[in-house]
Amino acid sequence: MTSKLNLVVLGKQGAGKGTQSQLLCERYGLIHISTGDILRAAVQNGTALGRQVKSILDAGQLVSDDLVNQLVEDRLSEPDAEPGAVLDGFPRNIGQAQALERILGDGGVKLCVYIDLPNELVLQRLSSRRVCQECGTTYVDTDIAAISGTCEVCGGDVVQRSDDRPEAIQQRLETFERDTFPLLSFYEQRNLLVKVNGDQSVEKVANDIDELIAGRGVA
Ligand code: AMP
Repeated sequence: MTSKLNLVVLGKQGAGKGTQSQLLCERYGLIHISTGDILRAAVQNGTALGRQVKSILDAGQLVSDDLVNQLVEDRLSEPDAEPGAVLDGFPRNIGQAQALERILGDGGVKLCVYIDLPNELVLQRLSSRRVCQECGTTYVDTDIAAISGTCEVCGGDVVQRSDDRPEAIQQRLETFERDTFPLLSFYEQRNLLVKVNGDQSVEKVANDIDELIAGRGVA
């Protein structure tokens, strides 16, 4: 059993995983591993990996388990992962969750936080979401930065993610139901699952997660 604080954050797209993962990292001094961010950066930078996965990301489908398992294993072996990591967008299916158990060993995942949000709200949030291509700051379509197309933080281009278009959102929701939803039972069976209501302010969700972590005594 390791003393590292490795946390898995699960939720549908738009549930607030990225924001809450970032806050958890700041609070507990952990690294943020977002497989979606790593893959999107590779696409944007036109690397070999990016060229390999671009059409899969655009269609809202999942890239191969072997590829993401390796990305995560490599990142977890870097020195700054010593205190632990918040895993955001990984694992996405049972195969990946088993791979994570192999990578981290028994007791390696301390808690799995599921941020719950109904599909209607997912659709609403994602169709109005805009992101800065440079720094990843998110906006809604009515924000000045989204209207002007210029990020208030870094001056980068603010755009709609290609997989936030309605067809891709639908595909991602179906993928979630089919592949990712079974992970709730997977972590429940291991007594590692806690659930929070994602239809609340960022602060309230963060507070609920904090209380659950404290209640479990894992940090
Ligand atoms: P996200 O930002 O987590 O919604 O991820 C964006 C896209 O990256 C997904 O729709 C997938 O195409 C790909 N992706 C991210 N994480 C994974 C993963 N764990 N397994 C497979 N594909 C992934």
